[in-house]
Amino acid sequence: MGRAVGGRRGGRFLSLAIALLVLGGVLSQVRIRPAARPERDASELLALRDRDDVNVVFVLVDTLRADHLGCYGYERDTSPILDRFAEVGVRFARVRAQSSYTKTSMASIWTAANPPGHGIYRYSHALAEGLRLPAEIFRDAGFATAGIYRNGWVAPNFGFGQGFDVYVRPAPSADPVRAQRRAPGAPALKGTDLDVTEAAVEFLRGHAHRRFLLYLHYMDVHQYLYEEESALFGTRYVDAYDNAIHWTDRNLGRLFKELVDLGVMDRTLVVIASDHGEAFYEHGSEGHARNLYAEVTLVPLVLSLPFRLPQPVVVEPLVRNIDIWPTVLDLLGLPPLPGAEGRSLVPLILAAARGEPQEPLAPRTAEAALDLTWGRVGAEPTVEFSVTEWPWRLLAIPSDPDLVQLYQLAEDPGEQRDLAGAHPELVARLLPRVEAAVAGEPLPGAREEVELDEMRLQQLRALGYVIKR
Ligand SMILES: [Zn+2]
Repeated sequence: MGRAVGGRRGGRFLSLAIALLVLGGVLSQVRIRPAARPERDASELLALRDRDDVNVVFVLVDTLRADHLGCYGYERDTSPILDRFAEVGVRFARVRAQSSYTKTSMASIWTAANPPGHGIYRYSHALAEGLRLPAEIFRDAGFATAGIYRNGWVAPNFGFGQGFDVYVRPAPSADPVRAQRRAPGAPALKGTDLDVTEAAVEFLRGHAHRRFLLYLHYMDVHQYLYEEESALFGTRYVDAYDNAIHWTDRNLGRLFKELVDLGVMDRTLVVIASDHGEAFYEHGSEGHARNLYAEVTLVPLVLSLPFRLPQPVVVEPLVRNIDIWPTVLDLLGLPPLPGAEGRSLVPLILAAARGEPQEPLAPRTAEAALDLTWGRVGAEPTVEFSVTEWPWRLLAIPSDPDLVQLYQLAEDPGEQRDLAGAHPELVARLLPRVEAAVAGEPLPGAREEVELDEMRLQQLRALGYVIKR
């Protein structure tokens, strides 16, 4: 038995103690057999939309940069379970999040709109009730819908609960794992992601007999939190970050094991994604929600299908988080999201599987944005935008015309060499798209303003954010 069990003092009730023991034990030594699903050719993807038994589990690992995962080439073995699933599923090699601030990025994921389309930039912005969001489409199609989150930026008061029958922040376990974190004593969220996993297991056990959409929003990577058994890589900040990824990977393993044990792995699509990355001084700062560089906007995207692919399928062209839900809805044959700017990636997946050329995206507007003053009450918005025309990426802050940067992504994926001065013609071509994004108004009725009381502000401060009055 692993230390997750040793960390528990046991419950008052025998059944609870046994349940915790089993849960802790499997978490420390999960061995998933991807073989729990039949092997099928990628063309079978198109047959999913004719089935009436496919579920969706959407796992959002907050603050997970792609290049710290084994399946994205990282030298450390941070993600063995996710890597094995990527080997028999679909991995997108280059994925851009639409912001490095959780709320802006999650608004883009759920609306499939770039930030200028939904206008959710600031701490006080919320998705409006009139929007039609993916969970509403699933609920209307007869799915049981549940969201389990630990990040206050996606709380129901910001409009993110729309369409979910159940949308909860799980109570911290009374008997938590022996968690370590990067900065003991700093403000911290209560509980761990095991609370999310346990709540998910409970939901799955009650709903495996019908179709479901389950959204899990993990936070321990954001918090640099890990259980002792994942303390593999040392104690520097970046080590703690990697330990937290390993711990989250074990939570994923627990989730997969439950899907196998319930016999629903062969009728469940699992999507693993992130809202943004994390900086370790690549551009002079650490953390996220400060700029839009590669380390905070390149994120993973892996699809684990209801069947195994005979060989890994890797989609190489740059795609975006706004493509996630158009893709899932297309795969399942559900109605599309109204006003979606993202597109279904199914044609790209099929082309990759067949070894055919994969067409790069040709976006027409800003695909990422961040209001640099998002947490300052009363401050004028100062929005940074990026536009990409492969292989070029322009970063600009329209209110500061001197701040224009240009990067060649194919040769310089880490965005270290600013080529704006060397290529004025490219800057002149791409800059109008940024200016158009600034001038554009969000879709009518997409955004609301909410008041935050002191309690909610404190909850957000516990995430480490500074919200200044
Ligand atoms: Zn986040």
